[in-house]
Amino acid sequence: MKTDIKPNIYGYPLPLLRQVLEDNKLPKFNADQIFNWAYRNFKFDPIEWTNIGKKTLAFIEENFDTSIPKIVWNGLSKDGTRKFLLAMNDSKTVEAVAIPARDRLTLCISSQVGCAIGCTFCHTGTMGLTRHLQGGEIVGQYLAVQKFLHEKDEPRLSNIVYMGQGEPLHNFENVKASAEVFIEPKGLGLSQRKVTLSTSGLIPAIERLMEFPPVNIAISLHAAHDDIRTELMPINKRYDLTKLFAAIKTIPLKAHRRITYEYILIKDLNDRPEDIDALVKLLPKKESKMNIIPFNEYPESEFKRPSNETIKWFMDEMNRRGIVTTVRATKGDDILAACGQLKSHSEEGKLNLW
Ligand code: SAH
Ligand code: SF4
Repeated sequence: MKTDIKPNIYGYPLPLLRQVLEDNKLPKFNADQIFNWAYRNFKFDPIEWTNIGKKTLAFIEENFDTSIPKIVWNGLSKDGTRKFLLAMNDSKTVEAVAIPARDRLTLCISSQVGCAIGCTFCHTGTMGLTRHLQGGEIVGQYLAVQKFLHEKDEPRLSNIVYMGQGEPLHNFENVKASAEVFIEPKGLGLSQRKVTLSTSGLIPAIERLMEFPPVNIAISLHAAHDDIRTELMPINKRYDLTKLFAAIKTIPLKAHRRITYEYILIKDLNDRPEDIDALVKLLPKKESKMNIIPFNEYPESEFKRPSNETIKWFMDEMNRRGIVTTVRATKGDDILAACGQLKSHSEEGKLNLW
């Protein structure tokens, strides 16, 4: 299995790693030991994997990359949100953001360098796609940040959201593998309920979500009218609202679970009474909840954030009409770490945001 770029080992779910070892006539329980070293003890250098035989170690070193991304910059916001700039082996960088809330510490991770979907309101979307991340580079963001926090004696990460740069379902296999590693009980052991994947609505991939571990699903809806949604998200030309909701019906929902609809509220665009009427018609009440994200303005953005009164009115009205609706608190906006602002570092390659 020689290739120019060695696959990163942290993108291998446990059953697959066991299989690879077995196929190469090596003890498959070594895979369990590797999981224990990496995910329970945060040891990423095979030299430290002292209970693993020489043959397996030589095989690993020859065929896999065992490194984790390097934190090249981090910045702490006034509200406790911490943004990380992480460099991959080819020096490409992505961002991950650790967001504290009550008893949780959520890591927002990236699935791609850039994004091909090109939503008009999104800072990342204006970059275009540079490349997919490997599964191990996705898991590696978590590993690098967790190690950093551990060394500072700070609380552990508790939740993961795929809401950084990139469209996770465009990188289906690698994101799926990373989710399997996150929830593996013999490794990081996160509960499926603590992992959330957000998608802009890539229908062929939504229809394959039954292949995924049953993590929470969030759909970036942002508009209940096709013309407005197309203006915001060019993907809606191909996969319009009718097709999107037909595809959502194929997502296997466990009892008491709901799909989250993300709705960026933009002044004078989708914050009107007729938008509420259309949303109430569109969303299946019992299986939906809505999360309003007040638009985060960034330099050059053409859209505006509605007033706090409008945001509250919109939320109250949705709740009154039977859709469980919350407003996402804006976090980390002083360091451009809020949703849709994850770009500045990667694009300009500079290390100072202020
Ligand atoms: N690509 C995926 C996941 C990453 S984006 C997706 O689009 O779902 C995570 C969330 O942040 C999405 O709902 C996205 O629409 C939202 N977002 C992007 N730019 C934003 C901005 N400027 N203000 C507020 N939310 C934004
Ligand atoms: Fe990509 Fe999501 Fe940004 Fe759209 S909102 S451009 S899908 S990262």
